[in-house]
Parts: sequence; C-alpha cells; structure tokens
Amino acid sequence: MDIPNQITIKTEVQYLRGVGPKRGQILKSYGISNIGDLIRNFPRKYLDRTNVKNINQIKINEQVVIIGTVKSFGLKYLKKGKYFQLNISDETGFIQCIWFHGISWISEKFKEGDNIAVFGKVEFYKGYRIIHPEFDLLENSKDPSNTGQIIPLYASNNLFKKVSLDSRAIRKLIHNALNQVYLIKDHFSEHFLKKEALLSLDKSIRIVHQPNSNDDLKSAYYRLKFDEYFFLQLVLAINKYQLSNFKGKKFIDLGDYAIKMYKSLDFKLTNAQIRVMREIRKDLAMDKPMNRLVQGDVGCGKTIIAMLTSAIIVGNDSQVAIMAPTEILAEQHFESFFEFCSKLNIKCKLLIGNLKQNQKNQIYEDLENGRIQIIVGTHALIQEKVKFKNLELVVVDEQHRFGVEQRKNLITKGKHVNILSMTATPIPRTLTFAIHGDMDLSWIDELPQNRIPIKTSVIESKKIDSVYTLMKNEMDKGRFCFIVFPIIEESDKINAEAAESAYENFKKNIFKEYTLGFLHGKLKKESKTQIMEQVNNGEIQCLISTTVVEVGINNPNATVMVIENAERFGLTQLHQLRGRIGRGKFQSYCFLIQRKKTEQSFKRLSIIEKHIDGFKISDEDLKLRGPGEFLGTKQHGHISSKLLDIVNDGKIMRHARTRAFEIIENDPKLIKSQNLKKKLLQDYRHMLEFINIG
Ligand code: ADP
Ligand code: MG
Repeated sequence: MDIPNQITIKTEVQYLRGVGPKRGQILKSYGISNIGDLIRNFPRKYLDRTNVKNINQIKINEQVVIIGTVKSFGLKYLKKGKYFQLNISDETGFIQCIWFHGISWISEKFKEGDNIAVFGKVEFYKGYRIIHPEFDLLENSKDPSNTGQIIPLYASNNLFKKVSLDSRAIRKLIHNALNQVYLIKDHFSEHFLKKEALLSLDKSIRIVHQPNSNDDLKSAYYRLKFDEYFFLQLVLAINKYQLSNFKGKKFIDLGDYAIKMYKSLDFKLTNAQIRVMREIRKDLAMDKPMNRLVQGDVGCGKTIIAMLTSAIIVGNDSQVAIMAPTEILAEQHFESFFEFCSKLNIKCKLLIGNLKQNQKNQIYEDLENGRIQIIVGTHALIQEKVKFKNLELVVVDEQHRFGVEQRKNLITKGKHVNILSMTATPIPRTLTFAIHGDMDLSWIDELPQNRIPIKTSVIESKKIDSVYTLMKNEMDKGRFCFIVFPIIEESDKINAEAAESAYENFKKNIFKEYTLGFLHGKLKKESKTQIMEQVNNGEIQCLISTTVVEVGINNPNATVMVIENAERFGLTQLHQLRGRIGRGKFQSYCFLIQRKKTEQSFKRLSIIEKHIDGFKISDEDLKLRGPGEFLGTKQHGHISSKLLDIVNDGKIMRHARTRAFEIIENDPKLIKSQNLKKKLLQDYRHMLEFINIG
C-alpha cells in the first residue's frame, strides 16, 4: 500500500494508521471517504465531571452517566434465552449493566479493570441496573473523573459495529488524524472572522474533538453552526437575487376581471386578506417579479387570494399556471377556478397525467397560442411539451412539496414569471426564515368572521357511544360526519382490515339508518373522485376513511370529525384533518379517540384540544418532539445537519442570515469571495435555482 507522506483532509481515510483498505471501504460506504469527512464526524455527547454521578447517588428511573471500573462480566442463562451482564464499580458502589441483544458482539468488548463510562436509565431489580446502556471505554492512562477533562463520545451506531470501531477507537483515529493534518483551511478571511468574532475552522474542529472547557466548546459550535446556516442562507440570498434580477411586465391596472370578480363575492374579505392583496398588488406593480409566500391556516381563504391575483394577470392579457402537488388537490382548485372563470368567460383548463393524449395535445396547443388563460394542474405542467404564449404568474400550492428543480422548470416557461406560493402547512415560526428565507412572506392570520370555533375533545374509548349519539343528531339535522382511521402506510394490512370491519359494523348496526361511504387507499382513482364528489354535494351523510382526507374535501355542512386512534397521528396531520370541518356556519365538533394512553400521547392530544392556530400547534409540537424529528421529514430535507438545533439556534441563524444577505447584496456574483463561491458550487450546487454566478 502506498502511504502518502503528508496527510491532508483530502487523503483517503484508509491511509490513516489503524484503518486500512477493508475498514476504509466500509467507512466510505457511510460517507466517510477522506480525512475531512472523518474529522467532521462530530461527537454525539461529551462527558465531563458535572455530568457524572457516583453510584451511591443514583435514583431509580433517572438518566445517569457513571464512570467506573469493570469488575466482572459473563453470560447468564434464563429458561428461555440468555443475557450478558457486566458488573461495574466506582468508589461508592456497584451497578449491573445488562444486554439482551447483540450478545456475541458485546461479550468481546471488555477486560477486567477497563475504565468505562456508561449512560442510561437506572432500574432496580435485586440491585441497581441499566439495560442496554450506551457506553464508552476510556483511556486508562487518564482518569477523567480526576482530571476534569471533557471527553468527546462518538455515536456507536451500526457503522461502528461493522468496522468494530467503538467510541474510543473513533476518538483515537480522529486525534491521530488531527495531529497529522497541518491546518484546516478556512473559507472565511481572517478579517471576517475577527469582525464577526468567530473562531477559525481549524481551531473549531480541533476544539470539538479535544475540548478544554465548555466555553471553548460553545464558541467552536457557534462557528460550525454559523457555517451551515451561512451557506443555506447564501443559497436563499442568491436565489432571491437572481429572481429579482429579471425585469418584466408591470401589472398596475386591476383589469376588468378582478373588479368584476371582487364585486361578485358574497362575503367581505377579512382584514388579513385585504392586507395580503395589497402586498401582492405592490409586488405586481414592480418590474421585478413577485416571489411571495402566503402562509395561512386551512380555511383562512387563500384560494380567493390566488383567484383575485390570477384575475389581475388575465385581465392584463397574460397567462396563469396553478400547480398543486396531487391530482385531488389540482381537481379541487380547478373546480373553484372553473366556477369563477365560467362566470367571467375566462378559459380555464385542467392538465393532469391521466388525460387522454388527444385532450393533452389540444391543451398544449391552446396554451401555446394563448387561448387558455388559466391552467390548473400537477407535475404534468412542467413537462417539456408544455409551452406558454405569455406566462406571467405561477401559483404554487404547498410549494415545499415540490423540488427546486420542478419549480424552476415551471418558472422558466415564462420570461419573468411572478410566483405566488401558498401553504397551509404550519411551520414553526423559528423555522420560517431558515426554510422560506428566499421569499417575501405574507400571513393570513385571521379566519373569516362567520366561522364558529370548532369544539375539540379527547375521548376515552369507553365514552365513544356519546360521540355516536351526537353524530346521529347532526346527521338528522342534515350535517355531514367523518370517521378517520389511521393508516400509516399503504401496506398496513391490519389497520386497513380494522377500518373495513368497522365500516361494515357501522353500516349494519350503529348507523344502519344512514348513508355511509368508505374511502380507502386501494380504491381506483375514479372511485375516489366519485366519493369526494358525493361528499361535497351531500349524497352521503358520513364518510369512513382510512386514507388521510387532508385535502380535496370541502363540504360546508361537515360538522363532525371523529379521529380513531388519534394518538397515532402527527399533530399537523390532526390539525389538517380538523380543517375539513367548521368550514360553514354551523357549530362543529372534533373528537380525538384515544385508544392507547401514555403521558406523551395525552400531552400531544391536549395541544390539539387547546389550540386552533396551526402555527401555534406546530410550535408546541416542535417543543415536544425536538427539531431532530421535525426536520427529519422529507419536506425539510435540506436542513438535515445533525449539528443544527433550529429551536435554539435563533441567534446564530439570524447572524448568519444577515451576513449572507449582505454579502450577496454587495457582491452578487461572489467575485470578491472566491473561497465562498468555491465551497458553494461544490457543496450546495443542487440547491441553487439559477446557477449563474460565474
Ligand atoms: P384555504 O384555501 O385557505 O384553506 P379556502 O380559500 O378554501 O381556504 O376558503 C375556505 C372557505 O371560506 C371557502 O368556502 C371560501 O369561499 C370561504 N371564504 C374565503 N374567504 C372568506 C371571507 N372573507 N369570508 C367568508 N368566507 C370566506
Ligand atoms: Mg411584477
């Protein structure tokens, strides 16, 4: 094997002493190819003296860190199966650690006299014990409990089991690498670092792996997080700049259609709607394109905003495209738009995947010659064949469900398209700028006045009969009810069957005098659409549903939403389901049936019970679940770094955002910041909407 003389961050990890080709290959398959990747594998936790408990201080059910010495260990046999027991002592007592799984792996890990740190929840069973603790073997030479040193602990996940590198081994590898790497180059200038009071990259990375004090650690992490937020915001700043640089048509006149439409409304716009319309008109009157996101809870009346905006564009002889993430949603928008378009003689069409080819061809032709004024559709709109005569407005519904690439494809079908994005998906306020920072933001923070707030209650299963009685009462008054069953995945057979048999039971017994419908994932698209129609025009009285009827249903008579096994839904999902009722002038009721009671599920359901504002719910949800899980979802995929803690990083994020936007404002092509540009194009290219910075 050729061993390079000088180890740099670009050196392949296999050349590091203690790795070798075989482990190198495995590390590579986990994304750790070179030394640079290795030293960016940051510790998961730190062990310092303030965390450590003496064994005689621990209490049952407490999460603890204990440092001790391995006294003895071995396999224990039960009637069925076996387990591995490790006995540890410190100066104050003994504790057992127990493993039921991974026994062959774990039983080779220890020697008598090993210094070890363990963490986990304390139980009591014939003595204190911790089941499946996390652990870390410590260097014997230095006893951390005496030196006060802070020790980084690395995740012992599957990767490290595969390469049989535990936390201690990883620590050694990283130290070894850091000792050989001369200097980790910075993409920021010394001047910038000094001005912003940031540590250098080199220093930060070294501190993170070899910390001397908690203050140092704090500064180091500030810098590393700053980096991540900075580049994310730099991307947003560039996207925003590039878009604003297109010069286009100014839409100053309202035009005939918008005025006629406004006059034909049988309700008054809310103050929030009026404010947002003003913001939009101001955008449209400028020669740079609008790029605005309208956020607002379900039912706050975003559709009317989209329609009025579209009417302005069409009234000025230009075309509008409305893109929705699903066919059901596209169809629903089409219905709303079609209704107002036919009154005003505007030509509006629906373009979705399953149209016949000749229908599609006709639409392509009419878009290109400008005969179609408003097109509503799904991803079908971004295909190459779709060409416009003069596309000036793109309305994107639930825009986070489209990729950068998809939005870009639609936008580039016009020369300088105005973008109006809409979302009812509540994102915690703290995340808004991190995620939507490239757009101007509008909020519709007010529901139409005729709404009566929905009454929400968590119901224990034994009280379910009272719910059924209320439902019958409502249906007798001509109202509509939903019962939703959780199906987390399409393949979830057991729950699908449970829902089906519940439906059969309702039909034969409890609700035999009523017309029921059953909506589930296995239905063909036509049948689904048919059921949706029956719901919307009142042909059925109660819909039992397995699939999530989050969207596509708009029946102002719907007054009851019963959610079975509510504890199994996400809070946002529950909130969206609840949004299907309370859309008309009647009192509505949402019942969350809690079948499995845990403290956590109770807390979560009471958030829904207490709050009706989706954004508030989302804030609470974030607090409860932590950002990891929140950001783990696909929709926020670009902020996936393990380092970031969006809830608590507000200050760092704002700092990074201010600088990033400032830099782009002064030097939009990053001519004076070649190092930043290099890193941006290397690591963030996929997020740039219009790569045009040189
Ligand atoms: P969103 O798209 O924000 O979920 P919609 O635009 O579908 O909400 O509006 C929900 C319902 O409220 C629709 O039936 C709509 O006609 C009605 N609506 C919208 N704005 C108002 C208003 N200002 N006053 C009364 N009803 C309104
Ligand atoms: Mg404009």
